[in-house]
Amino acid sequence: MKHTLAEVVEIDLHAEPSRPASAELRTLYRDESESARKHATRQGLWIAVGSYLLFSATDILLVPDVALYTIAARFAVGIIALAALEIQLHLNFSANRIDATAAAAVVLAYIGWLYPAMMTADIKSISYYMVFGAIFMMSVNLFFSFQFRLSWISSVVILLIFFVALQSFTAADATYRIAFGTFYLSCFVFTSYVNWKLNRERYKVFLNALEARIQQKEATERGKALLRLSNTDPLTGLDNRRAVDQTLRNHWNDWQNYGRSFAAILIDVDFFKKYNDCYGHQEGDRCLILVADALSTMIERYNGSIGRYGGEEFIVLARLDTTDEVAELSDAICTTVRDMALAHGQRRDGMSIVTVSVGASFTRIQSGSKLEKIIHEADRALYAAKASGRDCARLFDPNDPQSSDESENIAALLKIAIGQNLVSLVYQPIQNVVSGEVEAAEALMRLKMLDGTSVTPGLFIPIAERTGAILELGRWAIRTVCEEILVGDHARVVSVNVSPIQLKAPGFAASVAAILSEAGVAGDRLAFEITEGLEMEMHSDILRCIADLKVLGIKIWLDDFGTGFAGLSWLRLIDFDTVKIDRSFLHDSDSAKGKAMLQDIVGLIRNRGHKILVEGVETGEQLALMREFRIDQVQGFYVGRPAPAESFRSNPAMRPRLSRLRRPA
Ligand code: C2E
Ligand code: CA
Ligand code: CA
Repeated sequence: MKHTLAEVVEIDLHAEPSRPASAELRTLYRDESESARKHATRQGLWIAVGSYLLFSATDILLVPDVALYTIAARFAVGIIALAALEIQLHLNFSANRIDATAAAAVVLAYIGWLYPAMMTADIKSISYYMVFGAIFMMSVNLFFSFQFRLSWISSVVILLIFFVALQSFTAADATYRIAFGTFYLSCFVFTSYVNWKLNRERYKVFLNALEARIQQKEATERGKALLRLSNTDPLTGLDNRRAVDQTLRNHWNDWQNYGRSFAAILIDVDFFKKYNDCYGHQEGDRCLILVADALSTMIERYNGSIGRYGGEEFIVLARLDTTDEVAELSDAICTTVRDMALAHGQRRDGMSIVTVSVGASFTRIQSGSKLEKIIHEADRALYAAKASGRDCARLFDPNDPQSSDESENIAALLKIAIGQNLVSLVYQPIQNVVSGEVEAAEALMRLKMLDGTSVTPGLFIPIAERTGAILELGRWAIRTVCEEILVGDHARVVSVNVSPIQLKAPGFAASVAAILSEAGVAGDRLAFEITEGLEMEMHSDILRCIADLKVLGIKIWLDDFGTGFAGLSWLRLIDFDTVKIDRSFLHDSDSAKGKAMLQDIVGLIRNRGHKILVEGVETGEQLALMREFRIDQVQGFYVGRPAPAESFRSNPAMRPRLSRLRRPA
């Protein structure tokens, strides 16, 4: 089993002194201490040579007759040793070689002094002077920081030289020999032992330092990994929402403090739920990963960062200087995903690849601005991109009415509209072309501001859809239709416009059933008009909801047929009772080409067996044309304008034949 470095350190730190250290650690130890050892040896040798030369003075005092030789030897050894040391250092020799040189220098220095000195005639002096030999032994063992083996070998050599010298020192008697011999021997034993201990200590210090370093490194790495984990989206590896929020705050602070502008760009994968439903979640995940990879590579060029902001939503933050740059980057995002050409065969808007909708906002100077606002604006721009048919980018435009503060006001107004009686319904008659009878009415919503001015549905309905207010308003509309018209039998059938957002909301069909039973009205007196509009994604939830509504007896009509891409595929999926042809086709029928077009559409719908209603009949000629085309029903200003419930009820032309309305009890 192979140990990690940390484990080896741990083992060595607590090992018995006799146990040999691991080779790996030894090498590391040597490598680590290499330059420090060279430096210490160099310093030591210079000091040692210096004091060795200074001892020339004691030579002159104690052995003057041979001082010339000893001093000459001192200088020779000193100069050679230092020269050898410096050359080896210059040639970058290893610390071991340099230590060996220093050890050899000490041994030579000993010989170079001892043997000339022993030639002196002053026996007494030299017999004392010889004690200095111990200094050389101490210096290899204690003064230098040699490794134990080198110290040991060189001190053994010094010991041997001493014994050889003692042997040839004929003037020495037995007492002298015994005293000096044991002194040298014990000097050797003790200094060697201390050297061994010092070496062990040095190694332990190294191990402790190494252990501390390893632990420090592990702690930092763990910290980094944790940070990475808490900031990364596990699926795509991009920044997660938390990290994005942090980057956003940094960008925002830089914008506030230094005026460094930046863009926030929201990216939404078009029809992604459909993709998941069709190809499965695993493929859905793969799609997100591919898109994330492609975008993050591309974003690098723009000095931006990308994160995952939610299910199929990504966000790019980039420091940019102009709105042109923001527009360029936003378009590049769309193009990048489009160019990937990932197949998406289930979308119903005429395209068959994965695309994204992009909404961007850019910092701009305004009073009382807040960090959240830039995201809010990007979200609005994203909504506009989806409304423009997706696969496109929109930059938030503060001058756009949908973006204006007024639209904020309307959003706020919608929340209180029902309670404050600001919302009402008007009814437009629907006439049977053959009998001329008013068979039904369409309920249209009206909204007043607090000062009484009215807001057009074209403005407030999209806002209600965006904010979700349409859910409450929609239920209110159905309840009101029941109360105002159906309970009193003022029309056979009333059609109500229903937004796909309502159809998608859980429990919608159940809430309609509750309203009907509360009002005591049969379901077949209601028709729901569905437009192939903004949220045209034919969600499985929508299909289920429509099926539930049909069980209640409610008729489902297709509104504004021909204005979107989805109409035809919707016809295939849903069995509509009536299809309403958008008024633009009727208004274009002045020309021969337009007339032929209308005729084609009528033929197509009739072949599928739906009832046909044409909207926007404004003149007698148009009504005549409808008769010619054998259209079932018409609606328009020529037949009757939308009117409040009371005038709709009081107009006898509108009144249905009540006898036909009575349900068998
Ligand atoms: P829509 O469902 O297509 O409604 C018909 C629109 O055409 C109405 O506009 C109506 O006033 C207008 N119109 C009727 N006859 C003629 C005509 O002969 N000539 C012309 N030029 N226009 C005619 P309005 O009331 O402004 O409604 C606009 C849209 O707002 C509606 O279009 C519908 O999509 C939406 N809407 C209205 N009420 C509701 C509602 O309660 N819920 C939902 N979800 N949407 C609604
Ligand atoms: Ca309608
Ligand atoms: Ca319509």
